[in-house]
Amino acid sequence: MLQQTQVSRVVVKYSEFLERFPTLAHVARAKPARVMEAWEGLGYYARARNLHRLAREVTSANGADGASVGQLPSEPEALRALPGIGAYTAGAVASFAYERRAALVDTNVARVLKRAFVPNVQIKTTRGQRTIWGIADAMLPRTGRVTWTHNQALMELGALVCTARIAHCDRCPVRSYCVTGSKPSGRRAP
Ligand code: SF4
Repeated sequence: MLQQTQVSRVVVKYSEFLERFPTLAHVARAKPARVMEAWEGLGYYARARNLHRLAREVTSANGADGASVGQLPSEPEALRALPGIGAYTAGAVASFAYERRAALVDTNVARVLKRAFVPNVQIKTTRGQRTIWGIADAMLPRTGRVTWTHNQALMELGALVCTARIAHCDRCPVRSYCVTGSKPSGRRAP
């Protein structure tokens, strides 16, 4: 639900959705129209269609790679093979739900890593994305448990300190490691 939609709009819908469909098995058994109905107000209905397909896939007799039937897999590669799951969502589920040592890059994280390590990279290009994901992978902590905190911290840093509008380098905890912030003009980051 959070793909493309703000948290404030999702919170209420999420609880209502879980009341109606407490497990993936409930989603899988439902008619597509019922799932769409529960999604009303959130927009981007492709997400609901993909969720329904995903639920049917993971609850099917064979299950998804590396997981018990009815359960989402925990490895990013297996998650990415499911409908509607891209690199970011796979990393988020693996890291936050299963405490796997998996990288994740959303808009905020991409901005922080660019400013901190590769200010000249164009993050919207394929090459730029590859570079940013490579950095995110290279700086993962050793364990999945610490990765959970590390990924949360990176996202928070981008949302609260190294924001799109202004980089608050004067109160940034990673300033001494940051290429942009350690420059005298670092307050106005690219
Ligand atoms: S020092 Fe500045 S540019 Fe670097 S990560 Fe922190 S807020 Fe962003």
